[in-house]
Amino acid sequence: MRQLDHLLEKNKSWADGIKAQDPQFFNRLSNQQAPEYLWIGCADSRVPANQIVDLMPGELFVHRNVANVVVHTDFNCLSVLQFAIEVLKVKHILVVGHYGCGGVKAAMMNEGFGLISHWLRHVQDVRDKHQSVLDALSNDQDRVDRLCELNVVEQVGHVCQNNIVQEAWRRGQPLTVHGFVYDVADGILRDMGLSIASEEERDAVQTNSVEELILRPVRSGRQKK
Ligand code: ZN
Repeated sequence: MRQLDHLLEKNKSWADGIKAQDPQFFNRLSNQQAPEYLWIGCADSRVPANQIVDLMPGELFVHRNVANVVVHTDFNCLSVLQFAIEVLKVKHILVVGHYGCGGVKAAMMNEGFGLISHWLRHVQDVRDKHQSVLDALSNDQDRVDRLCELNVVEQVGHVCQNNIVQEAWRRGQPLTVHGFVYDVADGILRDMGLSIASEEERDAVQTNSVEELILRPVRSGRQKK
């Protein structure tokens, strides 16, 4: 335990800093959380959800796994989705990939690491679905980064196909699903141009997004740099 004293000390000074600004901050949070956003992102240590969008504790509900994958049979992710939508009533779901993703690169290159290969098979399905798009690029770096982008588009689709999301839309609950890609090299979050707020929008937006994406240079997002 002594080896981690520095973390406990950092925690104490962090909490003291917040209390100095707002003495009631933690008291308020202990009674309820009311985040407007669900973040579904990669587990990569360089992609810390709250810090990237500068949100405080209580403002962002977070689910992270290797390569930000949304699998229809993953009870962990499904439980997060259900709680976020039905109990917390988040208004926005952000699927956030990132350039330089080790999981996406391993999937792209068929690198095997035992158990995780099974998980990355989901990303390889995305790769295989868009093989011709990836083959048209001239180097591996661009192919990996484009697969990071395509993976976001596909995972946004999985969120939108989910029953929990569709039920929310059917009962008129405001809920928009977005796709972003973060660049660990410059700290900037890029909007993939996906913003889906109903079942009707889902198919058209997703198809358009892939077509628009293919026409854009790799790593070009819609946010100002
Ligand atoms: Zn990653």
